[in-house]
Amino acid sequence: MPTINLRGAQKNYGVNSANAVSNLDLEIRDGEFMCLLGPSGCGKTTTLRMIAGLENLSGGEIRIGDRVVDSIFDGVFVPPEKREMGLVFQSYALWPHLTIERNTDFGLRLRKLPKAEREARVEKVMQALDIAKYRDRYPSQLSGGQQQRVALARMLAVNPGVLLLDEPLSNLDARLRLEMRAELKRLHKEFKTTIVFVTHDQWEAMTLATTIAVMNEGTLQQMGTPNDIYDRPANRFVAEFVGSPPINILSFDKNGTSDVAKEAEAYLSSRYPSLRGIGSVGIRPEALSYATRKEDVPQGSFSGKMVVTGILPTGGSWILELRSDSHTLFLTTHALPRLELGEKVRFFAPPEALHVFDKDGQRITE
Ligand code: ATP
Repeated sequence: MPTINLRGAQKNYGVNSANAVSNLDLEIRDGEFMCLLGPSGCGKTTTLRMIAGLENLSGGEIRIGDRVVDSIFDGVFVPPEKREMGLVFQSYALWPHLTIERNTDFGLRLRKLPKAEREARVEKVMQALDIAKYRDRYPSQLSGGQQQRVALARMLAVNPGVLLLDEPLSNLDARLRLEMRAELKRLHKEFKTTIVFVTHDQWEAMTLATTIAVMNEGTLQQMGTPNDIYDRPANRFVAEFVGSPPINILSFDKNGTSDVAKEAEAYLSSRYPSLRGIGSVGIRPEALSYATRKEDVPQGSFSGKMVVTGILPTGGSWILELRSDSHTLFLTTHALPRLELGEKVRFFAPPEALHVFDKDGQRITE
């Protein structure tokens, strides 16, 4: 499958409405598992529908390889059925009056393939998705998860170059969702299909994607591997959207009055003069450590004094809640904390664990 390229893609649903998607540049390469990630209403589904050809662009263009498939400027619009993409939405819309085997075969019949080839393909995907044993049942006789597997099988049977999935696992319970994620990863490897997957669940995106595109308010915030997104968030929005428990953010400015904000300002202003004393620093909970004595804090660390206000066991690890007069921090530790509520401690983190953002929330650390 050639690369899919969105350039300056824009969608506006009405004369007086804001852009659902603005100036979006996205490159989806062959064999990629791309997750579009972002909060509700950020434009993920619109983007997927524009790629599928279910929405036309209000500006910009989409190319598949060298071929323009949507461009107002060129007056081109290639309809969905000519884009060779498979779509699976949240509701998986199986035909209730057809057996599982006939449902799986549905797309192939439409394409009028020879019977022997159809049968071979249906068998292969039914085996791969472990639904062959239900071949003679009807959709109403299957669980939600099994039905979702049939919906995927129906798509894979026609072997689309690109599979577009819109929150396809949202109706499943936690365990099934996990199983289906593993299944999707296996299928992606086996069928080498390009997948574009919409989700608002950062954990889902982190576990599945080869590339994540984080969106907010119709614009692309960052595109990168799951590690890039987690370890080098491009701005505060990405930093705060990805990670659980969420990243700690300490805002500071040169007129700050709280102890922690003053310490942050003093520490960061000397290292990052371009901040001019205003900005914020993000520290992931697992990157923070604590000490009860000042002399145990390693030289050069970013550090501050706080009070222990919560000790939350999470099964094998603990989350500590630390407070100062103005800030609350969460710290994850794998060693049983020998601390009392109300005890004073010093948190610390090495400089390389700090994500420093300017006053506009843009990353300035390497
Ligand atoms: P969710 O995760 O809730 O599905 P999303 O990120 O997929 O959200 P979209 O469905 O793409 O977001 O919607 C983006 C914006 O466009 C929203 O403000 C939404 O209200 C608006 N929108 C979506 N579809 C239409 C439509 N058919 N007509 C008018 N506005 C629409």
